[in-house]
Amino acid sequence: MSRETVLRALASARSDAEAIAVELAPHAERMDEQERFAPEVLELLARRDVWGRLHHRSAAGLRPLLSVQCAWVEAFAARCTSTAVLIQSQGTVAHSLALSSSSQARRHLAEMREGALFGWALTEPEAGSDVLGMHTTAHRTRQGYVISGEKRFITNVGLAGHYLLFARTRPERVNDALSAFVIAADAPGLSVTRVERKMGLRGSPTGDLSLAEVFVPSADRVGKEGQGLEIMLNTLRLSRPLIGAVSVGVARAAYQQARDVLANHDEARAIPREQQGVGHLLARIATDVIAARALLYAIAERADLTQTLPPMWHSAAAKSFCSDVAMRAADHACSLAADRAVSQSSPLQRIFRDAKILQIFEGTNEIQRNAIARELPNLAAEIESAFELSLERGGDA
Ligand SMILES: Cc1cc2nc3c(=O)[nH]c(=O)nc-3n(C[C@H](O)[C@H](O)[C@H](O)COP(=O)(O)OP(=O)(O)OC[C@H]3O[C@@H](n4cnc5c(N)ncnc54)[C@H](O)[C@@H]3O)c2cc1C
Repeated sequence: MSRETVLRALASARSDAEAIAVELAPHAERMDEQERFAPEVLELLARRDVWGRLHHRSAAGLRPLLSVQCAWVEAFAARCTSTAVLIQSQGTVAHSLALSSSSQARRHLAEMREGALFGWALTEPEAGSDVLGMHTTAHRTRQGYVISGEKRFITNVGLAGHYLLFARTRPERVNDALSAFVIAADAPGLSVTRVERKMGLRGSPTGDLSLAEVFVPSADRVGKEGQGLEIMLNTLRLSRPLIGAVSVGVARAAYQQARDVLANHDEARAIPREQQGVGHLLARIATDVIAARALLYAIAERADLTQTLPPMWHSAAAKSFCSDVAMRAADHACSLAADRAVSQSSPLQRIFRDAKILQIFEGTNEIQRNAIARELPNLAAEIESAFELSLERGGDA
């Protein structure tokens, strides 16, 4: 695919997404306060055909362009983080499905383009960073599998009609121990046991699932038996940049809020903008946002141009760098706004709470740095050369 095609698709996605994102802004505070996703936002996303555009196939007929998905997620996160996480989580499931060529996976992808919502269920009480600690088990029967276990902290519980769920099909701690399945949310034996009350991302429902002997036909297995870990890792290579995109949007929102507070000060409480300390904080946020965005889209565009998965360390770099920038931007913006940030009516306190979670989920930033550190022996050449060259040369997970 040519660079011109990717850049044209990206420019068009940016302008469409920014126009729709403006309509989200009024819902962000209410969803945070009410701790629930607003049905009106789901209606808005359907009316504007966001799902069709987000999961569209690229001009080359392959998977959706990662840079285009990042543009949608970034624009939405700049107005409402919970909505951005909803579309990011759908992107994650779509990538897992697209990695399997089965007719069931194609059917589910078509349903997603029509707005069907899914959850991606990997984490368990004893399997967070260490996914091979997973206890949920899928026992083979003649017609399919019987799945029992527990999942924790799953995004979209209660909203999703289906879950893409990982379970153990072999007891040993080996690479082919896991398999992936699609399970209907109303399957007998599957229940939501808890909806978490969270510090941030409060409009995005997160909760626990219990599976008590849930029957799943063989046709609903995604990929081959034992391919679960591979599907999960390949999905993370595409989904972690999407968390990077949420983070760039949140950092942008923090900058915007800080600038507005300084612009709108009244004379009695003038904030001395010309003071070096104030200017330096704004300069730091602005530079961080520009750097995070440049890294994110360089990585996404390379994956689109080459139609390959980003190497694991690229995805880890995008996720950890951009989410650290979001947290730092939120922190600096709150320092600048001072008492205006801590008020319940200030968007900054929500942005600050949302930003912290970006460093934690989809693999903590410590886990991302492990992935980068594993590549250190191969990274010396990358550091010596221009990043552009290193992107063209590529590399692998
Ligand atoms: C809002 C939210 C939404 C989520 N949505 C989903 C979802 O949709 N689907 C899903 O499957 N999961 C989801 N999760 C779970 C999320 O991905 C995990 O919380 C995350 O991967 C971290 O796992 P953990 O919380 O078990 O931390 P732990 O693994 O218990 O880690 C605890 C601490 O130890 C550190 N640590 C652990 N191992 C290492 C190591 N090897 N090296 C260095 N440091 C280490 C971690 O960095 C962390 O600081 C969600 C979580 C949140 C908060």
